[in-house]
Amino acid sequence: MPFSRRDFVKTSVVGALATGVGAQASLASNLGGNGWPSQDSSNASQSGSFKRPIIVCANNGYAHLEDAFVFLKGGGDTLDAALKVVKGPEDDPKDDSVGLGGLPNEEGVVELDACCMHGPTRRAGSVGGVRNIKNVSLVSNAVMQHTGHVMLVGEGAERFAVAMGFPRENLLTEHSRKIWLLWKEFHSTDDWWGPGLADPHWPPPASKTTSDKPQAELREDRIRNLQARAADLGIPPELQLAAVRTVLFPPTGTIHCSALNDKGEISGCTTTSGLAFKLSGRCGDSPIIGAGCYTDQDVGSAGATGSGEENIKVAGAHTIVENMRHGMSPQEAGLDALKRIVRNYNGDLNRLRFIDMTYYILRKDGAYAGVSLWEGYSKGNPHKIAIHDGTHRAEVAVNLLKGYSQEFPPFPEIPEDLKKDSEYLK
Ligand code: ASP
Repeated sequence: MPFSRRDFVKTSVVGALATGVGAQASLASNLGGNGWPSQDSSNASQSGSFKRPIIVCANNGYAHLEDAFVFLKGGGDTLDAALKVVKGPEDDPKDDSVGLGGLPNEEGVVELDACCMHGPTRRAGSVGGVRNIKNVSLVSNAVMQHTGHVMLVGEGAERFAVAMGFPRENLLTEHSRKIWLLWKEFHSTDDWWGPGLADPHWPPPASKTTSDKPQAELREDRIRNLQARAADLGIPPELQLAAVRTVLFPPTGTIHCSALNDKGEISGCTTTSGLAFKLSGRCGDSPIIGAGCYTDQDVGSAGATGSGEENIKVAGAHTIVENMRHGMSPQEAGLDALKRIVRNYNGDLNRLRFIDMTYYILRKDGAYAGVSLWEGYSKGNPHKIAIHDGTHRAEVAVNLLKGYSQEFPPFPEIPEDLKKDSEYLK
C-alpha cells in the first residue's frame, strides 16, 4: 500500500540509532511562551454543545465509519460500533498495519495485539501476540464477554479464539512475506540468508566500509540494489519503492476507534500488527489497557497509534482520560500526555524526532480532539483523525512539535529512473 495512505511512524528502535544525526535535523519547535501550544483548536474550545452520536478513529478507519455510524445511530452498542470500524482494516489484506496482511515479526510470523473497553458495563478485554487469527479486536471482546480475565496472550489466546469459533488462517500475505524476505536479505551480510556468495547480487561486506564513494552515492546504490532484489522477489514495480522504504525504515501501524451514542454511552478499541519485524513475543501499547486504549464511562475515551514503547511509559490513554476528568479539554489532555513523552527525553529533539505518537480523544459530551507529537511523517502527509457525527470527515491532528518525524538515516533522494512506476510517490 502506498505510504501516502497509511499512518506509520518511525519507531524508538530507529530512534536508538539516532546518535550523530543532529546536524541533519532542521526542526523548529512549536512551543509558545509557556513552552507549549496554548491555543485549543479542537471542537472542545467551541462554545455550545457537541454532537452525539459520534465516532472518532485513526484515519485508516475512514472508509468504515459510515456503516458503523448508521449502526450506532440506529441504537447499536457503542463497542460493537467501534469494533465494526476496526474490523475493516483487520480484514483488508492491503492494510499492512493490522490483521490480515499485517507486516510480520523478525521470524516472518504475523503477531497481533488488541484491546477493548465497554463503558456502559465498565469491562475490558485484551489479547497480545496472537498468531493465525485475523480479527483480534473481536477476540479481545470475547475475552471480555466470555472469561473472568482481562488479558490473554500468545498460544493461550490463539487456542481461546479457536474455542470461540474464530478460524485459524494464514495472515502472512504474499506481499508482506516478500517485504519480510527483502528485509531479511538486507540485514543478512553476516548470516546465511541470501543473496549468497554465488549470487550476482551478493554485496561484498568489505566494499561497504572501504568504498570511497560519497555517502549519497552509497545510499543510492543501496536503494538500487534493494529495488532490484524487490523485483527479483516478484514485488510489482509500483510497490517496489514502498517495499524498499519499509525495509529501510520499518513502520508501525494501528487503528484505534472510540464511539459515543446519544445516551452518552461510550466505548473504545485498538488493534494492530505492531512494529514491523519486531522481536517475537513483543507486545506494544495497543493491547495494554490504559496505554493503547482507555475508556471511562464517567469521562470519555482515548486511544493511541505510534511508538508503543513510549506510550506504555506514559500510560497515554489513561493519562488523557484522567486529565479530562480533572477538567482539561480533550486537546489539552492529549498535549499533556505528549509532553510527558517529551519529558522522558528531557526535550532532546535529536531523539524525539525518531518517535511519533497520535492520540484520538473523545469526551463523554461529544467534544473530541486528535493530537500528535509531530505534524506528520513528511511534508504533505500530516497525521489525521477520522470523525463521523452525521458529517463524515478527516481532520488534521493538532501537533505539539513543529516538523516531521524523521527517518534514520534520512531516506535519500529517489533516483529519477526509479520514480516512474512508483505508487507511493503519487
Ligand atoms: N502502537 C503500535 C505498537 O507499538 C504501533 C502503531 O501504532 O503504529 O505496536
